[in-house]
Amino acid sequence: KAKSEGRSTYHFFETGMDAELQQRRSIEAGLRMAMQREELRLMFQPLLGLQENRVTCVEALLRWDHDDRTISPAEFVPVAEETGLIVPIGEWVLHEACKAAATWPGDVRVAVNLSPVQFRHKSLVAQVKAALLAAKLEPIRLELEITESLLLSENESTIDALHELRAMGVRVSLDDFGTGYSSLSYLRSFPFDKIKIDRSFMADLTTRADSQAIIKAVIGLGQSLGMSTTAEGVETEEQLAMVREHGASEVQGFLFSPPLQPAALANLLHSEAAKVLASRKAS
Ligand code: C2E
Ligand code: MG
Ligand code: MG
Ligand code: MG
Repeated sequence: KAKSEGRSTYHFFETGMDAELQQRRSIEAGLRMAMQREELRLMFQPLLGLQENRVTCVEALLRWDHDDRTISPAEFVPVAEETGLIVPIGEWVLHEACKAAATWPGDVRVAVNLSPVQFRHKSLVAQVKAALLAAKLEPIRLELEITESLLLSENESTIDALHELRAMGVRVSLDDFGTGYSSLSYLRSFPFDKIKIDRSFMADLTTRADSQAIIKAVIGLGQSLGMSTTAEGVETEEQLAMVREHGASEVQGFLFSPPLQPAALANLLHSEAAKVLASRKAS
C-alpha cells in the first residue's frame, strides 16, 4: 500500500497539482466512505444558562476519525458542502443528536448546526420531523443553528422552511453573530429565538472597550427583539463576569466545559439533575 501511495504522490507533484488541492481530493475521497465506515461521531458541548444556573442546552459538534487523526469540521465541512455529502451527513447528525437528547434530563435541549446546503434540499423539514419522531423527542427540545451565510442566499423557500420548523416548535438560532457583512439586517429577515455572539468578540473583551460596548449592545438588542443571547468562546472568569453583568442568557466556552464525549456529557447532566432534586427535597 505504501508503495502505491508513494507513487501517486510522485505523480501529483509531476503534474504540478498543488498540495492543497491534493489534500482536498483526499478528504473528499475519504469522506465518501466515512459514513459506512462509521468514522463520524459527535462531541457535545454544554451551554450554561445564567438565570437557571444549570445546563440549558448542549451543542452537537461533528468529528471525523480518519487515518489515525481526528479531523475538525472546519476542515471537512466545506468539502462536504461542495460535494453535497453534507446532506446525508447532516441527516445522520440530526438523528444522532436527537437520539442522544432523548436520554438526557427533560429540560435540556440539543443544538444542531445546519449547513446552507441542507436548505437547498427540499426534504430538510421532513428530515427534521423524521429525526424527532425516531428519537421520540419533543420539537421544543431541538434548536437549529444557522449562520449568516444562509441568509445571504436568502430566498423564499429557505425562510419558508425556517417558519415551518419554528411552527412545529423547533427553535432557530443565529450562529456566529457579528461576523457577516450585514448582521443587523438578518435579524429582520427571521424571528430567531437566539443570537449566538461570535467568540471573536470575547477574545479582547477585557482589554478593548469597543468590544465591550458591542457585546452590551447586542445583548440589549436581543432583549428588545425577544431573542435570548449566548456568548460563545467564554474562556476566563473576567469574560464570564462581564457577559453576566450585561445580561447574556447563556455562556458557552472552555471555562465552563469543552466539547465532551457522549458518556461524559450524560454523566454531567445526570449528576447536575440529581443535585437539583436533592436541593428541592432538602428545602
Ligand atoms: P460553531 O457552531 O460556532 O461551534 C463552536 C465552535 O467553537 C466549536 O468548534 C467549539 O469546539 C469551539 N469552542 C467552544 N468553546 C470555545 C472556547 O472557549 N474557545 C475556543 N477557542 N473555541 C471554543 P468545532 O467543534 O471545531 O466546530 C467548528 C465549526 O464547525 C462549528 O462552529 C460549526 O460551524 C461547524 N460544525 C460543527 N459540527 C457541525 C455539523 O454537525 N454540521 C455542520 N454543518 N457544521 C458543523
Ligand atoms: Mg454552532
Ligand atoms: Mg457558533
Ligand atoms: Mg463560532
